[in-house]
Amino acid sequence: MDHHSGWLDVDGIIFDAVGTLIRPTPSVAEAYSAAALRQGVVLSTEETRRRFQIHFASDGIHADRGLLSTDETTEKRRWREIVAGVLPEISNPDRAFDELWDHFGRPESWRAFPDVAPALRALESMGVQVCIGSNFDTRLRSVVQGLPELEGFSESLVISSEIGYKKPHRSFFEAACAHLGLSPDRVACVGDDLENDVEGAVLAGLSGVYLDRSGRGECEFPWVSSLAALVQARYHRA
Ligand SMILES: [Mg+2]
Repeated sequence: MDHHSGWLDVDGIIFDAVGTLIRPTPSVAEAYSAAALRQGVVLSTEETRRRFQIHFASDGIHADRGLLSTDETTEKRRWREIVAGVLPEISNPDRAFDELWDHFGRPESWRAFPDVAPALRALESMGVQVCIGSNFDTRLRSVVQGLPELEGFSESLVISSEIGYKKPHRSFFEAACAHLGLSPDRVACVGDDLENDVEGAVLAGLSGVYLDRSGRGECEFPWVSSLAALVQARYHRA
């Protein structure tokens, strides 16, 4: 399959969830700062954001079956460590963890991007099979169920903590292709993370399409600036 145009003819698309279909609203940093404030600790969202980026990036080190393996217990432990790392000043880190864990498991803490519902409808009408493939944990199921834009997708979720490996591991993409009932060369993965969604997919034999909503698209892979642009490209494929 041609590296740059082959994705236009695929029969199935795996969409990443966070940053691609949905985003936390309020932001992650605002939610963490609010949790700190409930324990009397004042932290700016800028500071919380800076700390979160550091601690979020240092994941995977405790996975029991090797790098990129995961399960629900691993994810919960990882998030407990992230909360403690981002908010070291608070007196009750367990309480903050419980609050934030519940917060991000609720659909009202998330918004779908405006182009999501029209894009999913358009792809369905073109006969493209779609699933959501995410490194989020089982909480994504309740989030998706509560967002009207993603109605009908609660049975089309491939979640790393449930299948045992996270993106960009090849096993994750194999599981997602099996879910779609398609061979990897008939499937594209679309997402906002170059390493997890695009490079990993390509290494596993899929197409990878980078979603860069900033419009810069500085990469060697096919990219789009919106899901509307993705649909347009598919529609007008030669
Ligand atoms: Mg993402």
